[in-house]
Amino acid sequence: MDPREELASHFTHYSKYGNKFPKAIEAVLSGSVKKHTFSPSGRVVLTVVGRDGEEFIDPERPFCSCDNFFFKVLGGGAELCYHLLSYKIASESKRLDTVAFSDEEYASVLSAISRDVLTSMREQRR
Ligand SMILES: [Zn+2]
Repeated sequence: MDPREELASHFTHYSKYGNKFPKAIEAVLSGSVKKHTFSPSGRVVLTVVGRDGEEFIDPERPFCSCDNFFFKVLGGGAELCYHLLSYKIASESKRLDTVAFSDEEYASVLSAISRDVLTSMREQRR
């Protein structure tokens, strides 16, 4: 069985999100949903690497740094963006790509991700 179909078959309740669903499945399978953990503080930074670069997500608030979230979700036209959907699927299927760091690395990891996020924002808005 195709790994996409296999994973999608466990999450058919998310197919209501239309074309975000196959995009999210693809992102999860390619290991694009990343959980950066910092110790000993236990801080967590979540990102999803998309076609247009990396995006910060915070599923609790919820928040995503992508354009779609800003314009569609906050504008009330959509419930979530595919990055947040990718996170749901990845965490529920235990496919988060976890990377462990020490607290000393927090600033440099965060600035590296931020550079990526800002670059992708610039490219999307061009
Ligand atoms: Zn997003």
